[in-house]
Amino acid sequence: MILRTSTRRILAILGMAAALAPHASAQNTPQNAERITALRRNPVVIRGGWLFTATNDSVVRNQGVLVVAGRLLAVNRPITAEEARGARVIQLRDDQYMLPGLFDVHAHYNMTLGPNALRSDEWTYNPIIFLANGVTSTFPAGEYEPDSMMATRRRIDDGQQIGPRIYNSGPYFGSARRGWNPNATDADIDRDVDYWAAQGARAFKAKGIAPQHLAELVARAHQHGLTVTAHLESGFRNSTNARDAILLGIDRVEHILGGDQLDPGKPAYPSWSRVDTASRAFKDIVALFISHHVMFDPTITAPVYFSQLQEGFDYWIDERKFFTPEVQAWVKTKPPRHPVAAWDSLYWAMRRTTKAFYDAGGLLTLGTDNPSTGEFIAGFSAHRELHTLVLAGIPPAAALRIATINGARAMGVSDKLGTLETGKLADLVVIDGNPLADIRNTRKVRIVMKSGVIYDPQALLQQAEGKIGFSPKRP
Ligand SMILES: [Zn+2]
Repeated sequence: MILRTSTRRILAILGMAAALAPHASAQNTPQNAERITALRRNPVVIRGGWLFTATNDSVVRNQGVLVVAGRLLAVNRPITAEEARGARVIQLRDDQYMLPGLFDVHAHYNMTLGPNALRSDEWTYNPIIFLANGVTSTFPAGEYEPDSMMATRRRIDDGQQIGPRIYNSGPYFGSARRGWNPNATDADIDRDVDYWAAQGARAFKAKGIAPQHLAELVARAHQHGLTVTAHLESGFRNSTNARDAILLGIDRVEHILGGDQLDPGKPAYPSWSRVDTASRAFKDIVALFISHHVMFDPTITAPVYFSQLQEGFDYWIDERKFFTPEVQAWVKTKPPRHPVAAWDSLYWAMRRTTKAFYDAGGLLTLGTDNPSTGEFIAGFSAHRELHTLVLAGIPPAAALRIATINGARAMGVSDKLGTLETGKLADLVVIDGNPLADIRNTRKVRIVMKSGVIYDPQALLQQAEGKIGFSPKRP
């Protein structure tokens, strides 16, 4: 936006100068063309390879993409010599594919590193790792240190720090927040929402929230034009079932679809692990999501951080090397995984229900929900979640649309991001290999562009090696 405005201003000044000059009619002279070329900001032409624009389900040969001042000025058409003048030209190989930048809308920056460490947000190197993985947009879905996360977003937007776009969530609303007041009044919730909206929160995250608090949160957030997503429950112990949250006007729901299959006298996950997708109750809750346009963020891979490793949980780059030697030593001395069967069955239930929701026409988003414990890192996990959507039975093209345009819709920015279309912001990824033939090809990120700025993923990752770790005392 800023780039566009300043470019317009410069062109306006140029036009004005030409109008004042005696040869005002000579605007198309070679000299003026040179001056325009010099004023264009960071032009890039990308030729060759293939395009997955996310506007449909196919890949097409790339005739040419033109980026100027952070924006896509042409997508998939021959770029003229005049347009290409002064541009950096990138020639893709025939096995390279360009996609929109990925959206992780459950992108935790927080981690628990060390035996006595509190879960804390890591905002220095984690942003670099997200970006290097082609994740150009993130919604943190519950910040433990929201002031620092807001400051991180401002530094990234100002160009003082490298990272993806951050759509801040602010702190959790509900018992997941340290120091949450279970007796908060409507006025307390309103004041809280107003404060974080003023700080720049773009959507709110509820977890462990009572129905009356959720009702007020949704109503107040909507007054600010902001949305609400939640990790919900069965109704057990004054928690909220997704069925009730939808009727209260919630915008998005995470993890499980809820409904009448959950016993309100028991925690949600054990009953969800046995969910019957052919039941009336399941069909009813899916229909309620669809009729209310509520998006679902399944985070299928999240249970695997506590279960036995599932398909796709390999290291294509050893993520453990990004932690400090102290954290790496701690990870090695931790007892080996003790897979908890309950989390395995939840993983399989999430796979089944996500596919059934997709088949019914439900709107899905991609979220990782990977608060790292030194084993995996959320930026890489975005590729695991994408792969798992395909393992669940969703076609690769649909999974890629879930990871791109649907994320942009969830964040309310689908007019600017989420697809490769003329006029949109230039957030894109170049990978080796056709992602429709093998979705795991998205792991091979070779170029990342955010707002027209090109990043080399290898160079980014090198900066983060050995850097992620907290002292046990923090915060
Ligand atoms: Zn989470």
